[in-house]
Amino acid sequence: MSDLRPAEILLSEEQIQKRVAELARDIRCDFPDSLHLVAVLKGAFIFLSDLVRHMVGQVSLDFMAVSSYAKGTTSSGEVRLLKDLDTTLDGKNVVIVEDIVDTGLTLTYLQDILRARNPRTLRTACLLSKPSRRQVDVKVEYIGFTIEDRFVVGYGLDYAEQYRNLPHIAVVGS
Ligand code: 5GP
Repeated sequence: MSDLRPAEILLSEEQIQKRVAELARDIRCDFPDSLHLVAVLKGAFIFLSDLVRHMVGQVSLDFMAVSSYAKGTTSSGEVRLLKDLDTTLDGKNVVIVEDIVDTGLTLTYLQDILRARNPRTLRTACLLSKPSRRQVDVKVEYIGFTIEDRFVVGYGLDYAEQYRNLPHIAVVGS
């Protein structure tokens, strides 16, 4: 496990940039007036920063941090809230910005706790989705790419805190 490294490019920088621009346009079309993006740290930090730069008009941001993978490539199914939001969601059009939906456990947990805070609307944007891994039926309105069951890194996604800085998304191998 310890010598896993990016082995094969799955999504190029160009593919990602094009799709992120499309997602930004779709989200902005649905919420042209006011929009509050809640990014899930750390994995969504690059996705959020590219997404938001494609949006004109009013957008506010906030961040949460959760832990669902301690180390390695398998899910424990346990979700811990490491950092809560700084601002209220009351009456806002909220879109959760997440890097990847895998089993769906993390997003289900987040959606449940954020819905309880009375947003006007609550939707979710994920750059990547691995539908074959789903354990719970979670609703994701905006999906960048659907991928196979492979462990990926880059564009914010890590393996043991490495490779978040890659501009593309790669599959890890040894
Ligand atoms: P879920 O709760 O849906 O199983 O997992 C969501 C979280 O697991 C993501 O936010 C991400 O941190 C992590 N995760 C799931 N699949 C991958 C993957 O292929 N690569 C990386 N780096 N993280 C993943």
